[in-house]
Amino acid sequence: MVENTPYHTLEFNGLTIEGYSRAAVQSYWRVPELKLGFDLGAHPWDFMGTGTWFLSHTHLDHVAALPVYVARRRMMKMDPPTIYMPEEAVEGVKQVLTAFSRLDRGRLPCHLKPVVAGDEIHLSRELVVTVIGTDHRIPSVGYVVWERRKKLKSEYQKLTGEQIRDIRLSGEEVSREIRTPRLGYLGDSTPRGLDNNPVMYETEILITELTFVSPDHRPERIRKLGHIHLDHIVERRERFQNKLIIAAHLSTRYHSRQVERFVKKALPDMLEGRLHLWL
Ligand SMILES: [Zn+2]
Ligand SMILES: [Zn+2]
Repeated sequence: MVENTPYHTLEFNGLTIEGYSRAAVQSYWRVPELKLGFDLGAHPWDFMGTGTWFLSHTHLDHVAALPVYVARRRMMKMDPPTIYMPEEAVEGVKQVLTAFSRLDRGRLPCHLKPVVAGDEIHLSRELVVTVIGTDHRIPSVGYVVWERRKKLKSEYQKLTGEQIRDIRLSGEEVSREIRTPRLGYLGDSTPRGLDNNPVMYETEILITELTFVSPDHRPERIRKLGHIHLDHIVERRERFQNKLIIAAHLSTRYHSRQVERFVKKALPDMLEGRLHLWL
């Protein structure tokens, strides 16, 4: 293993969240059990095996490692990765890859997939990702990962296996799909990215940005910058139904201890212990 880029790890409810995120520095996340990751601001060597990535937007701290990642996959003879991104970004990313390909004299094979809010991406029988609209200074999206399973419709639950098989053979749909929102990834956004997508308050795990925490930074000004201030979280504290809320993307203007102090002062119970600062 090559140690080249830092990240933190947190296990929760059968999922391992791995990632790093500081505003203007770099953001990257991965969930190995789901075989996917979010944003490519940098790329730890051991994230390479994950072949499906979802970009929130193309600020450099979220996308700069894309060519490096694609090149490493090729070098290690792995399949070309699939990278989803806001549709506005695809053309520019292609141009960047073409330019790097020329400079590096190496191919950069990958599948770039445009997404818009409302899209549904079927990753496997068990996993669906939906795309949500967020509110940032450039085109941006967030993502919700849903686990789905089939459940026998209630009217059939008392029947025997044989009876169910007969109904199924007659062409009738005997089950319905149950979806559970396991994980929400906001990317960079004002609080509107949460408010306009109520599912974000319901995902089991929410990864939200929280760029500014100091009372010296006025929430209204932060909203104009396209970000979330601690006051915005406090105003919405009753809305969060999530089991785990990861707050990340903190400004480098703060030391970690400062962040902890401001947040604990504003939310002494840390949202009943569900709020986790990613520092
Ligand atoms: Zn950012
Ligand atoms: Zn940004």
